[in-house]
Amino acid sequence: MLVTGGAGYIGSTAVAILLDAGFHVSVLDDLSTGHADSVDSRARLIEGSLLDKDAIRRAIAGCDSVLHFAGKSLVGESVEMPALYMQVNVEGSTNLLDVMKEVGVNQIVFSSSAATYGEPREAILTEESETQPTNPYGESKLKVDQLLSERAVKDGIAALSLRYFNVAGAFKGSRGWLTERHNPETHLIPNVLKASDSHPVTVFGIDWPTADGTCIRDYIHVIDLIDAHIKALKILKNGTHEIINLGSGEGYSVRQVIDTASDVMGRKVPTRDAQRRAGDPAVLVASIEKAQSLLNWKPTKNLSEMISDVYSSTR
Ligand code: UDP
Repeated sequence: MLVTGGAGYIGSTAVAILLDAGFHVSVLDDLSTGHADSVDSRARLIEGSLLDKDAIRRAIAGCDSVLHFAGKSLVGESVEMPALYMQVNVEGSTNLLDVMKEVGVNQIVFSSSAATYGEPREAILTEESETQPTNPYGESKLKVDQLLSERAVKDGIAALSLRYFNVAGAFKGSRGWLTERHNPETHLIPNVLKASDSHPVTVFGIDWPTADGTCIRDYIHVIDLIDAHIKALKILKNGTHEIINLGSGEGYSVRQVIDTASDVMGRKVPTRDAQRRAGDPAVLVASIEKAQSLLNWKPTKNLSEMISDVYSSTR
């Protein structure tokens, strides 16, 4: 199995869980945001970029399927650097699919995103909801979803896009904790847990059209997310491209996340109210009916467990 982006937060967690489940794993990662020491030593690590087809060829040798996590993934950064997002995410994925065709690998599970939907026009997003991304990150993920649909028809590949909502939590494997290690860290939960009186966590917008004025997101534990990938591998079908939302099906506001973290840590999280962040939609909550029925999967961990695992991983 080839895992692209296997040195990142989600990818490295997948690698560890796959190895424990008995898979042979090859990792392709350019280490631009990932960390070599996050990659379980039982995996083969090829340091290289999706923009380099030779690196992809080296990494895919001996593999029969691909979990494609690699990519740029920050909404704010994508607004600043849209071309980079198109290059790495779209051109990189095109290269990967080209090499897969060349070497006869036809199974792929892709990390897509709820950002493909943009500002929701309904409370709960289903896979049928209109896609109208509000930022270049979401646009790039949508383009790859469209590319997979085309290649399924044209080349007969078996493809599945998992549209992640907000992935959180940490995984404690046989070799210690795997957790988010971004620099700078932009994600809410790690920032909430790091907040101090001198560096309070910033709340991006308190005037959103939600009950408490802060953005609502659907958080899913990384362990539940990877479990869904393993189940996804089993339902791949040649010539088809499925799209499946992955979240917990429940929305929490930024304030609710902060309050839950205060409960987990037993101290009040210092906060600072600020302007809205560019590119953010107000509410993103998944319908997970399709994931439940097609994958025979359900989330098992709640927000408090996600926060508490991240908290444990940092101590
Ligand atoms: N957010 C925040 N302060 C932070 C980081 C994030 O208020 O330090 C908000 C952000 O505006 C969004 C939500 O928390 O509404 C989740 O953001 P995150 O960056 O974790 O994930 P995203 O939804 O962008 O993928």
